Amino acid sequence: MRQFMTHSNQPDQYAHPTEGMRPQGGSSELPYTYTIVRARRKTMVVHVRHDNVEVRAPLFVSDAQIKDFVVRHTQWILRKLEHKAGQEAQRLALSDGGSIYYKARTLTVCFVSDSCDDIVITDKEFRIHGRRLNAETAAKILQRWLLMQARALLPARTQALASYLQVGSKLKEVVFRKTKTKWGHCTSSGRIQFNWLIMMAPDAVIDYMIAHEVSHLLHMNHSRRFWSLVESVCPDYRTYVKWLKKHEHRLWI
Ligand SMILES: [Zn+2]
Repeated sequence: MRQFMTHSNQPDQYAHPTEGMRPQGGSSELPYTYTIVRARRKTMVVHVRHDNVEVRAPLFVSDAQIKDFVVRHTQWILRKLEHKAGQEAQRLALSDGGSIYYKARTLTVCFVSDSCDDIVITDKEFRIHGRRLNAETAAKILQRWLLMQARALLPARTQALASYLQVGSKLKEVVFRKTKTKWGHCTSSGRIQFNWLIMMAPDAVIDYMIAHEVSHLLHMNHSRRFWSLVESVCPDYRTYVKWLKKHEHRLWI
């Protein structure tokens, strides 16, 4: 199962928690989980394989020391995890006749040979238009299309909500990045980052994500005050958190 960001270790950075995402074991408050393998060895080492972060440690080292070690290597681990995520994305299997879960509907993927790249959505079909279509070329067309949708929608809506909450001047930029670990991210410098794959989700879920990240401009944490603010602009936010928990893996094309 994919793990998602909960609280970051840097006090100035928070990613949204959409549950499933609670770290387990000894890694509470870290944006990923890790497993510990003890062995007769003298030094600690971290391995990242697929989704798994594994720490190999000598027998005499305490769990707290291991956590300390992991925390110090967080940036490296996150880079590794993202790299693996990128590799996995390249292997995604879009196929003619296969299915895709788009805005809470299961649609049939159709490859349509065409000189122009495009996506056309009908009642039942998700038509990918392009040249020499295969899993890889179709994925590229879909990714470009989703990024375009994200650019057209998210900055304006984010700015509008920030202005409504009177923190318009705090919002410095909205950027897009596909990461495996989170849907959104907000820094104390006023930069909000969205994973453009969120465009696969229903519009209400997208609005919840915007509410979540904009609320971080006022509260850089997931405190009760933070969630009340989210609720004030997105009363049904619990529904959307649950929806993401249940379906988000299907959006990861
Ligand atoms: Zn958050």
